Amino acid sequence: MEGYAGRIGRVNLSNRSCSIEPLNYEDARLFYGGRGLGAKMLFDELQPGVDPLSPGNKIILMTGPLTGTPVTAANRYVIITKSPQTGLFLDSYAGGWFGPELKFAGFDALVIEGVSPHPVYLLVEDNRLSIRPAGHLWGKRAYETETAIKKELGDEDTRVAVIGPAGENLANLAIVQNDYFHQAGRGGAGAVFGSKRLKGIAVKGTGGIKINNPARLVAYLAGPVENKFSGTGGGLLGSVADRMKYGTPFTLNITNAIGILPTRNFFYGQYDRAEEINAEAFRRKVVVADKSCYACSMACTKFSRARTGPYKGAEVGGPEYETNALFGANIDNPSLEAIVYLNRLCDDLGLDTVGAGNVVGFTMECYARGLITSNDLGFTLNFGDVAAVAELLEMMAYRKGLGDILAQGVRTAARYFGQNSETFAMHIKGLEYPAYRPGPVSPGFGLAYAIAERGACHRRAWPALAEQQLPPFSTAGRAQLVKMLYDQRIPWHCGVNCDIGVQVPGLGFAEAAEMYSAVTGREVTPADMQLLADRVATICRCFNLREGATRKDDTLAPRSFMPEEIGPGKGKSLSKDMLDTMLDEYYALRGWDREGVPTGETLVKLSLDAVAEKMAQLGFKPARGINQGIKGEEYRGAQINGR
Ligand code: SF4
Repeated sequence: MEGYAGRIGRVNLSNRSCSIEPLNYEDARLFYGGRGLGAKMLFDELQPGVDPLSPGNKIILMTGPLTGTPVTAANRYVIITKSPQTGLFLDSYAGGWFGPELKFAGFDALVIEGVSPHPVYLLVEDNRLSIRPAGHLWGKRAYETETAIKKELGDEDTRVAVIGPAGENLANLAIVQNDYFHQAGRGGAGAVFGSKRLKGIAVKGTGGIKINNPARLVAYLAGPVENKFSGTGGGLLGSVADRMKYGTPFTLNITNAIGILPTRNFFYGQYDRAEEINAEAFRRKVVVADKSCYACSMACTKFSRARTGPYKGAEVGGPEYETNALFGANIDNPSLEAIVYLNRLCDDLGLDTVGAGNVVGFTMECYARGLITSNDLGFTLNFGDVAAVAELLEMMAYRKGLGDILAQGVRTAARYFGQNSETFAMHIKGLEYPAYRPGPVSPGFGLAYAIAERGACHRRAWPALAEQQLPPFSTAGRAQLVKMLYDQRIPWHCGVNCDIGVQVPGLGFAEAAEMYSAVTGREVTPADMQLLADRVATICRCFNLREGATRKDDTLAPRSFMPEEIGPGKGKSLSKDMLDTMLDEYYALRGWDREGVPTGETLVKLSLDAVAEKMAQLGFKPARGINQGIKGEEYRGAQINGR
């Protein structure tokens, strides 16, 4: 099959060995690449129960068969690993140029295992791997590290991914940053790098990617795909033109109007100063340039600069919507210039802005309630105090004082603070909420968050707009919608393409199938895309079940079940019964039993026989049903209802 480089680089940092293996094309036919193939490799290679920060965990850095080709927004890589934040499956994506460069260097994936006795970075050149010392880089912040590696290699065009101090110090909120302004942000991939004393990866590639039928691909891109881009409607995420002009911050206008914009640690769903940080204000006040990732005509990435005020001169790639919301409304800060500054600081320290924005909002609420004081922190921490936030972020990245706890996320912090603080610690499975507030006006977002394997995640399904067409304050149609939206993303997660770049113009299974066929030469159909989606969702689920996750983990933070104080849902609430109803329906649609365990029939139907066998060895029962947690009549009933 074309599209693939055909090689996987394997690096053992414990014994400093580097080797090159052929790609397993049999697995690639079933799981394609990216998230799918990475999930299969992680499931096969990881010992169940392994400590995410131990030598036994692995970093599987994946591209896909579409990465680096002219296919729309095919510019991502994904880090697959066991998350130190959740103890579960993690796929963390980043754009820019790093992913395509890895393909140009001749690799579909890198598998990094073991732990180095001293800091190192990995150099990937055309079909070659080498481990280089990084003692002189350890302790440096992210921007400086990337510049230093490029300088050392004497090539400005080398693509580099690095960690900052947060990763070195094993913070759960640690990211991996590449091409200066792109981050694999969620779930603590940076801490896994840090635990292996891996400061970064540099990639230089001069090769190409073979495409089976370039003429077919180009005609399709220039015809049907281009028509989608230039059409007025766009997909379910808003119009293409809006996204090109404002980038992801356009979303803030939507979430504030609907009433799901996190405000003051998710207490409210609307911000009374939203106009100061909305899309128009963003474009007017701080955006100085439009940027694009490799091979993307959307150019939704913005480059921003604080032009006035105390943070004048601060610059960053972004901020994205999540950052504007979580370092804006969520901490009651209406200054875009301050958001630019805090975004830059997080990136440089190597902290996830989503997780950190949550932690800051949570800690501010703890402070406002008197659960912690200035004696605990060394300073006051009122909502909106940007200088104090900056101090807190430094403490987190360097694990100083209370920052040592906060760096591990709101779940750990709530356990440490106690006093019912878990009721307003906004996380699922340990991963902090993205900047959407599930509740009565968006039960579907509640379901989308609850079923996501990596914890609270908006990159599985994004029902914010589509849900508005369904009966309000109801569960009706949500399970079907969330499954459909979730599944639509999977071919692109395997590609590996940018969600925004394909979802905004409304590219779905049909477009994915056509482009996969043109690139690889293997004819696939939209039905194959559906099968791929079901297969990938199910193997990710099996990984989590093996690690001990159960239906109980598919829930929401307690605050999401509280009645709304303001906005379109005022006085209404999302109940636990509503979530249970949606979960039952969702599991059934997936062919999972009432505990969310895939049935034996489902595994076989999805060609996951080997997975079924491994699950059986661990005590799960495949064939006429994997039935953990359900017994006798109830189990048989679940089987019937689930079909
Ligand atoms: S849509 Fe935006 S983030 Fe996605 S690839 Fe294009 S420029 Fe990058």
